[in-house]
Amino acid sequence: GTRVRFAPSPTGFLHLGGLRTALYNYLFARQKGGACLLRIEDTDQTRFVPGATESLIRAFEWAGIKFDEGPGIGGPHEPYQQSKRLELYSKHAEELIEKGHAYRCFCSSERLSLVRLEAQKSGRAAAYDRRCTMLTKEDSDQKRAAGEPFVIRMKVPEGKTVVEDEVHGKVEFFNKEVDDSILMKSDGFPTYHLANVVDDHSMGITHVIRGQEWLPSAPKHVMLYQMFGWDTPKFAHVPLLLNPDKSKLSKRSGDVNVEDYKDKGYFPEAVVNFVALLGWHPGTTEEIFTMDEMTKAFSLKNIQQSNAVVLRDKLDWINKMHLLRRAETPEGLKQMAAMVRPKIESDLGPLSKKHTDDYIALVIDTLKERIKNVHDVPTLCGYYFKTPTYTSEESVAYRGKVGDETLKKVLPSALKLFTKGGDTPLDKEETKAALKTIAETYKMKLPVVMNALRYTVSGVKIGAGVPETLSTLGRECVIDRIKNVLS
Ligand code: GLU
Repeated sequence: GTRVRFAPSPTGFLHLGGLRTALYNYLFARQKGGACLLRIEDTDQTRFVPGATESLIRAFEWAGIKFDEGPGIGGPHEPYQQSKRLELYSKHAEELIEKGHAYRCFCSSERLSLVRLEAQKSGRAAAYDRRCTMLTKEDSDQKRAAGEPFVIRMKVPEGKTVVEDEVHGKVEFFNKEVDDSILMKSDGFPTYHLANVVDDHSMGITHVIRGQEWLPSAPKHVMLYQMFGWDTPKFAHVPLLLNPDKSKLSKRSGDVNVEDYKDKGYFPEAVVNFVALLGWHPGTTEEIFTMDEMTKAFSLKNIQQSNAVVLRDKLDWINKMHLLRRAETPEGLKQMAAMVRPKIESDLGPLSKKHTDDYIALVIDTLKERIKNVHDVPTLCGYYFKTPTYTSEESVAYRGKVGDETLKKVLPSALKLFTKGGDTPLDKEETKAALKTIAETYKMKLPVVMNALRYTVSGVKIGAGVPETLSTLGRECVIDRIKNVLS
C-alpha cells in the first residue's frame, strides 16, 4: 500500500510550509487508503530545540492532521525518532564502505576549508577534492585503529543521475557537480542524506512528498538507493512559499508559525484549506473545502511547479467562508461562541451572566456577513458586551454633526415605544415599526432616525442593520442605553 511520511527536523515550531507538506502527505495517504507517518529527523544535535516535537504534535492536533505512525503513536517501525536509530545508520554506512560506494575521510577541518575556498575560486560545484579516495584500505583501517577522527563520505560515481519527479518530470543532474557528501559525521551521527534514505527504505515509504528545497539533494538520494540496491520511492517536490514581495517565506517575515493563526482566531479548517491552495489547485473553480472534500479532490498532478505566494487577504476570505459554513448550524454557532469567549473576556473584561454562549452565538449570527474572523467580535463590536463609552473618533464626530437636537427627539420617543413592549422580546418588526413612527412624527428621514439609534446602542457604525442589532441586544439593554445617552 501507499506509505508516505512527514519528516521534520525539530528546530522550533510548525510553520505554514511544514503544515502544507504534511497536509499533502496526509491527503495523499488518506485518498489511497495508505498510511502517513511522522518521523522526527533529529540527528543534527546542534539544531535541537527542546519541546519542538511536542509543539509540532499540538499544532497537528489543532489542524486535524492525524498520523498513523509516529512518536507517541507507535507503529511497526518504532522508534520514529532518528536519534534513537543510530546503530542502523552506522551499519548501513559500513555496508557502503564494503561495497566500495563510500569511504572514510580523515581530512582536517582546516584542510576542508582551504579545499572549499579553492573549489569556489575555480568554480567547481563539488566542494571536496576527494583526496581520501586515494587511501588504500589498509591505510584507512590503520588510521581508524589509531583513533584518528574521520567522517564517511559517499563516492559519487561518474555519469548522470535522473530524478523522476511527479511534479517536475525528469530532472537530470551531472554527477560531477554532486559533492561526495558526508554520510556519517565524526561524532557517529548520520547526516540527513543517509538517515533519510535508510529510514524511507526501512519504513517502506512509497512516495516522498516534500518541499522543493530538497530537490538538489534528490540525486544524492537516488544514488544511495542505487548503491544499496533498493527500489527508489516516487518523488514529488512541492513549490516554495513566498512573501508577496517574492522573498522566501521565513520566520522573519512574521506569521509563519501555525499556532499564531490559532491564537489569532482563524479556524483550523480555514488555515488548512488556505495552505492546500498554496501550490495545488483542484482543477475546478471551487476554493472552499473541508478535509474530506480535499481528500477526494487531491492529486499530485495538480501541484504546480512555480512558487506560491502567501496572501493574507486570501486567508481572511477563506476564513470568512468557513465562518459562514459554521454559522449554518446551531452547533456551529455554539462552537464559535465557546471559541471566542476567552478572547472577548481578555479584550473587554469578564462577561456578565446574561452573556451566555447562546447570546454570543446570536451575536455571531447577527454579524456573520460583516466579520471575517470570530476575533472581530470583541475587536469591532464590543458594544454587544459592554456599554459604549462614546469617546471614539466616529462617536464624537457623529455627536458633533447631528447635535443633541436629533437625539432629543428620537430617543425619548423610542424609549416610550420600546417600554410599551414590557417583558416580550424586542424583535425586528417592532423596531422597524418604531423607527417608522418616529420618522413620521418628526418628519425625519428614516436613516437619520436609524443612525441616532445605532449611535446610542453601539457608539460606532460597524454592525448589522439597526433592527437586527437592537433585537440581538435585547429590550432591556436597548432601554438602558437610551436612558444612558439621555442622562
Ligand atoms: N528533515 C527534513 C526537513 O526538515 C526532511 C526533508 C525530507 O522530507 O526529506 O524538512
